[in-house]
Amino acid sequence: MFAIYGHTCHLCGHGGAYTADHLTPVALDAEQPINPHDMRPAHGSGGNHPNPCPTCGRYCNQERGTKPVDAMFTPAIEW
Ligand SMILES: [Zn+2]
Ligand SMILES: [Zn+2]
Repeated sequence: MFAIYGHTCHLCGHGGAYTADHLTPVALDAEQPINPHDMRPAHGSGGNHPNPCPTCGRYCNQERGTKPVDAMFTPAIEW
């Protein structure tokens, strides 16, 4: 997934994102297949490896939760 999309957070648009955010939250669809095209890099608290944004300090993945991506702040980049 990171090989395709790099490490730019799709939620805040800053670099340094090392956790995968599902476009369809796993909490809403646990049966979804693992497809890298359905994921995007995002900042988040990835278990033992907290990964807050080095620029804005957010845990974007957790902040988003199960909200639609477009309910979040506007990303700085277009997909
Ligand atoms: Zn972010
Ligand atoms: Zn950020």
